[in-house]
Amino acid sequence: MIEMKDVWKAYPNGVMAVNGIDIHIEKGEFVYIVGPSGAGKSTFIKLMHREVKPTKGKILIEGIDITKLRNRHVPKVRRKLGVVFQDFKLLPKLTVYENVAFALEVIEEHPRYIRKRVMDVLDLVKLKHKARSLPDELSGGEQQRISIARSIVNNPLVVIADEPTGNLDPENAWGIMEILEEINESGTTIVMATHNKDIVNTMKKRVIAIEGGMVVRDEQRGEYGYEA
Ligand code: ADP
Ligand code: ADP
Repeated sequence: MIEMKDVWKAYPNGVMAVNGIDIHIEKGEFVYIVGPSGAGKSTFIKLMHREVKPTKGKILIEGIDITKLRNRHVPKVRRKLGVVFQDFKLLPKLTVYENVAFALEVIEEHPRYIRKRVMDVLDLVKLKHKARSLPDELSGGEQQRISIARSIVNNPLVVIADEPTGNLDPENAWGIMEILEEINESGTTIVMATHNKDIVNTMKKRVIAIEGGMVVRDEQRGEYGYEA
């Protein structure tokens, strides 16, 4: 469902961040992306949701090469992808409800559907009661749960998360993992870059390790493999 074929990325300053990656991720997989700082994990994640374009290579999402898409076709592919960031990136002046509803309003879903769908995903992350709050009235763990609700409101095929637990204490980090696992169990593919050794070693999922912009390890039920 997600395929990278001989993907390279050089930034304009000449840094070679990704150096010939080939991977294949199937529908429903849960995949951790691990590796030292500067290894190319964020670039890999950004390539997947077309925040950066590769210098060379193909990136296929359900058979569509996202590197060749015309800009006007990008939103359609992005809708298949939910993205979660380390620093949440909620819109500060919008309420929790509005942050989550936004993606559905952009595509002009029926208002009644939007209300039901937004409350359903807020229920999934157990924050229905915070619908009227502003993001800065929530704890970090709560803000991340809202950003996950936002990422799945469109029923994406894949949720792509770049260090989603990086700013959270262990208890909140585990709360996030429970939610991601529940989303995965309902059939959504999860690809998550992380430095959290405990989480990777406890969950026993596929682990892809990146070093120097290359895949150096790809194991089912893998381990973190680095010192924390
Ligand atoms: P990781 O997420 O594993 O820490 P990154 O993908 O952020 O790795 O970075 C890989 C390499 O690319 C590093 O050398 C980093 O300094 C460089 N890099 C990342 N983003 C940019 C950018 N926008 N411009 C130039 N170099 C970058
Ligand atoms: P944590 O224990 O994760 O640090 P906080 O102490 O920040 O969490 O928040 C605890 C609870 O209080 C949360 O449910 C949060 O939504 C609520 N809360 C925190 N700050 C505010 C605020 N300024 N206005 C309303 N509710 C708040």
